[in-house]
Amino acid sequence: MRSVTILGATGSIGTSTLDLIERAPDRFRVEALTAHSDVAGLAAAARRTGARIAVIGDAARLPALREALAGSDTEAAGGAEAIVEAAARGADWTMAAIVGLAGLRPVMAALAAGATVALANKEALVSAGEIMIAAARDAGARLLPVDSEHNAVFQCYEPDPARIARIILTASGGPFRRASLEEMRGVTPAQAVKHPNWSMGAKISVDSATMMNKGLELIEAFHLFPVGADRLDVLVHPQSVVHSMVEYVDGSTLAQLGTPDMRTPIAHTLAWPQRMETPSARLDLAAIGRLEFEAADEVRFPALRLARAALRAGGARPAVLNAANESAVAAFLAGRIGFLDIAAIVEEVLAHYEPDAPTCLADVLAIDAEARLHAERRMERVTA
Ligand code: NAD
Ligand code: MG
Repeated sequence: MRSVTILGATGSIGTSTLDLIERAPDRFRVEALTAHSDVAGLAAAARRTGARIAVIGDAARLPALREALAGSDTEAAGGAEAIVEAAARGADWTMAAIVGLAGLRPVMAALAAGATVALANKEALVSAGEIMIAAARDAGARLLPVDSEHNAVFQCYEPDPARIARIILTASGGPFRRASLEEMRGVTPAQAVKHPNWSMGAKISVDSATMMNKGLELIEAFHLFPVGADRLDVLVHPQSVVHSMVEYVDGSTLAQLGTPDMRTPIAHTLAWPQRMETPSARLDLAAIGRLEFEAADEVRFPALRLARAALRAGGARPAVLNAANESAVAAFLAGRIGFLDIAAIVEEVLAHYEPDAPTCLADVLAIDAEARLHAERRMERVTA
């Protein structure tokens, strides 16, 4: 029996992870489940799986969680600190599926406990980069990539940079792949979160629409696969069948293919180095007929350009990029700014706030907080 913890158990990745675990109750035992505010979803998952502890991030909801868990064997806890403590309980395998930098301290706690961490929470790695990789190495912990592109690369990757010519991340291009800048100007949150291929949380759906998601994924790949920024490429592939590719120096290109169902990459990290069955639909390439590819357009999708520049500049830039983007996406979803303002705000914050490179976790959190303040100030101007 392997013990598993799911950070962000009520989200899109969290529920897909629960689905796999609940199909194999003889193989997995649930240690901890966490969520931000969905008491009913968290308590139901804890009851179904017999989790040892359930943690609600919003401490004001702890009484409601206690009530929802009454009569069960699951302990209840509340608050951001309790999530970090739950992550530190050292389950054999931890799914990091909190969205945004809010997931950073829990991920770091899981790594410090020496656990295997399946990483969906790309924002944490983008912002803390080298610090997170070093923490994993020092604790003897293992990071397994859940993001479909990075999981695809991981499956095709021979860990010797000298063999690798390029890593090619595929991108669906999102719902506005063919839209002009003028058409994108008036896009509503409801239109932006309607992804053509994947069903995901609101924040990552907006990131896919601006293509900031692919930018964050370039930075994520830089840390997971140390081949250097120059060997990381993006290729638009609207069908999301080829999840990414590794091109070797001998001209061989290896790709991982599958239907767009996150249970496949999650299962890969859950069973690794073995494989496990999943209910994911199988690929029917004859029915698909042909696969399409096109170059990415950094003029209509400036977020991609900004992320690439932040990656090359390094230091604190990725953390500033991520923080400004999180603030701007939240403001867009709240109807405070327009769709094109998201990348514009990120660009302005990057231009006006240039902190020193972080050397520890506290630095990353401070840079993140300060960059959000800068973004807020600029958004007040946009909405004034
Ligand atoms: P989601 O919004 O559906 O779920 C987010 C989860 O995090 C929820 O359980 C929520 O309760 C929790 N959470 C949110 N804010 C929190 C806070 N402040 N403190 C503690 N917990 C908090 O998001 P998602 O789509 O499941 O994405 C989760 C992560 O996985 C993101 O980093 C995303 O980029 C990444 N990811 C998602 C997909 C996907 O298909 N959904 C694919 C690749 C990567
Ligand atoms: Mg992805």
